[in-house]
Amino acid sequence: MKVHNVDLTISAVRPEQYPQEGYPEVALSGRSNVGKSSLINTLINRNGYARTSSQPGKTQTLNFYDIESQLYFVDVPGYGYAKVSQKEREKWGRMIETYFAERSELRGVISLVDARHEPTQLDKQMIDFLHYYDLPILVVGTKIDKVPKNKRNQRLSVIRKGLNLRPEDDVILFSSVDKTGKEQVWEWIDQYLVQ
Ligand code: GDP
Repeated sequence: MKVHNVDLTISAVRPEQYPQEGYPEVALSGRSNVGKSSLINTLINRNGYARTSSQPGKTQTLNFYDIESQLYFVDVPGYGYAKVSQKEREKWGRMIETYFAERSELRGVISLVDARHEPTQLDKQMIDFLHYYDLPILVVGTKIDKVPKNKRNQRLSVIRKGLNLRPEDDVILFSSVDKTGKEQVWEWIDQYLVQ
């Protein structure tokens, strides 16, 4: 998709606040600092459009980005803040569980992991959770520009194994610095725009 028009339409916590247009939705999840805002900005050809790393303690909302009035990107707030209280964590859990479990517009989830490192326990929990809801998954391994080319295939298998991915789950290595993987990510998304 060629993207010219993007609106941050809605920040929502509860289902009544989700947008009503019925466009297909692709959610993006990942721990804070993994490169989620950078991925969104790369996909929509903007610098600094999606807000970068929301601060610990700030209100956690689902952010719906209207892409060309054809699709919503749904930015799921990052998991794994050490400083967030147990109560905040439970609130976050309920919010995303409700969204993933009940949202019929949701077509698939892009789950981000840092391609340089072993997936974390929290990364794995997120994938288990998405498997439980049987959602189509694309894992994006970020910051691949930091990995030498001859080591990249190895990162793919570390991610697949570490996250216990199903054969039908996809993995794409990505860099917002040199745009590696950008077209592949769009191809994955585009399949859900065909109604
Ligand atoms: P978010 O918290 O997941 O939204 O992460 P950000 O997109 O704000 O990125 C966190 C940090 O990682 C920032 O300093 C970015 O510049 C850096 N970063 C993000 N993507 C990449 C990438 O593909 N390559 C490199 N080298 N750095 C990246």
